[in-house]
Amino acid sequence: MPASSTAPVVVVGGGLAAARAVEAVREQDADVDLVVVTSEGHRPYERPPLSKDYLRGQAEPDVIYPLKAGWWDDHAIDLRTLTTVVDLAPADHEVTFADGSTLGYSRLLLATGSTPRALQVPGRSLIGVHTLRTVDDADLLAGLLLPASLEGEGKVVVVGDGWIGTEVAASARMLGLDVCLVGQTEHPLQATLGPELGSLYGRVHDERGVLRHRGDVVAFTGESGRVKGVELADGTHLEADLVVMGVGVTPNVGIASAAGIELRSRDLGGGIVVDGTLRTSAPDVFAAGDIASVPSPHYGRPLRVEHWAVAQDTGAHAGRAMLGDDAAYDVLPYFFSDQYDVGMEYKGFVDPRAGDTEVVISGSVDDRELVAFWLRDGEVQAGMAVNVWDRMDDVEELIRSRRQVPRAELEAFTG
Ligand SMILES: Cc1cc2nc3c(=O)[nH]c(=O)nc-3n(C[C@H](O)[C@H](O)[C@H](O)COP(=O)(O)OP(=O)(O)OC[C@H]3O[C@@H](n4cnc5c(N)ncnc54)[C@H](O)[C@@H]3O)c2cc1C
Repeated sequence: MPASSTAPVVVVGGGLAAARAVEAVREQDADVDLVVVTSEGHRPYERPPLSKDYLRGQAEPDVIYPLKAGWWDDHAIDLRTLTTVVDLAPADHEVTFADGSTLGYSRLLLATGSTPRALQVPGRSLIGVHTLRTVDDADLLAGLLLPASLEGEGKVVVVGDGWIGTEVAASARMLGLDVCLVGQTEHPLQATLGPELGSLYGRVHDERGVLRHRGDVVAFTGESGRVKGVELADGTHLEADLVVMGVGVTPNVGIASAAGIELRSRDLGGGIVVDGTLRTSAPDVFAAGDIASVPSPHYGRPLRVEHWAVAQDTGAHAGRAMLGDDAAYDVLPYFFSDQYDVGMEYKGFVDPRAGDTEVVISGSVDDRELVAFWLRDGEVQAGMAVNVWDRMDDVEELIRSRRQVPRAELEAFTG
């Protein structure tokens, strides 16, 4: 029998999407019963600092929490940490936990985020081979990086030169460690930014003394169970005391999939299909954050974006929607990254691998103060500001205008 409408609103997840959803629910309704369930042993937190200042031991531990410790009790939230949902029965409006107990819900938000991928190569279980997703991962890694930094020795190999990989490489290098960065394309971040902007990041890392290698990792080698090196397909051997894999993540859609909830096809980015109010195909079940494939009115296609701001915005939107707000989600994707003294913000959506985009740059690549625009058929699809601040609203205006923006106007953007 379906749970009654007096059953609690249940949020599954311990990341930013969950935190913002809970906050939005409480802003609308001070009394509705609200249960938050997370596999982790922490109250919901955000992850960007984990590859940046937090990893370098330069941030206050509390920097990761969007909501203060007392907030949860003050707002009468039933927060259940170290609790994992293993099954969802939409027809019964019920979730089952790992210990076999069940909980009915009136409305349910899935904000289960992603799991880092690990290379399936020999030696992946050696001590010293890591991924980075949780604060526990970051604490463990920091506990290895910081002493090595104080002793002035330690060889770190970062496998994967996407955002996590490049940020971890930057942090390790800033701590004075020897760092090798292994990627599969000529430039770091090339899959996301294309060769023009990827090469900028390549130079930034080169100048800081990161040794970049291009190739496929075929094995991790070790002695006495501890990693000692990384083997590439071309025979290159890299010495390593510590390996961090940043080779992408997989959205946690297993519970939804097993419950028969509609998933998006891989060619459209995968994830859980939601409508503009973040409702899934199951009644009263919503999804937000990394796992949600959300229709974009502007781009006319669904987008599933694994970034902080999307977790924040879709989480808050889902929280309001669970209490009946029917507004359609229409926020352009946004993200940021900090590496050394290079800070960037990016707004919009484009896949440079599609090969149908043109890049126009305003400002100076050499000085690392620029705004790059990606255009398709003369219309701005996305913009990225590097060490240029407070221009994202202007970038958004250009994107939303859909007008044919003359090249000269874009080149003059930074003045
Ligand atoms: C190290 C790092 C640095 C990053 N830096 C940036 C950055 O600079 N800029 C940027 O835009 N983005 C960044 N990101 C990406 C951003 O953090 C993610 O997009 C964001 O965390 C997604 O939030 P979420 O709430 O959807 O999921 P998550 O943060 O992944 O949270 C999901 C939570 O759900 C829990 N969970 C999963 N399954 C279950 C279950 N069955 N039962 C109970 N709980 C469950 C998980 O344990 C986890 O706590 C970074 C990510 C990492 C890992």
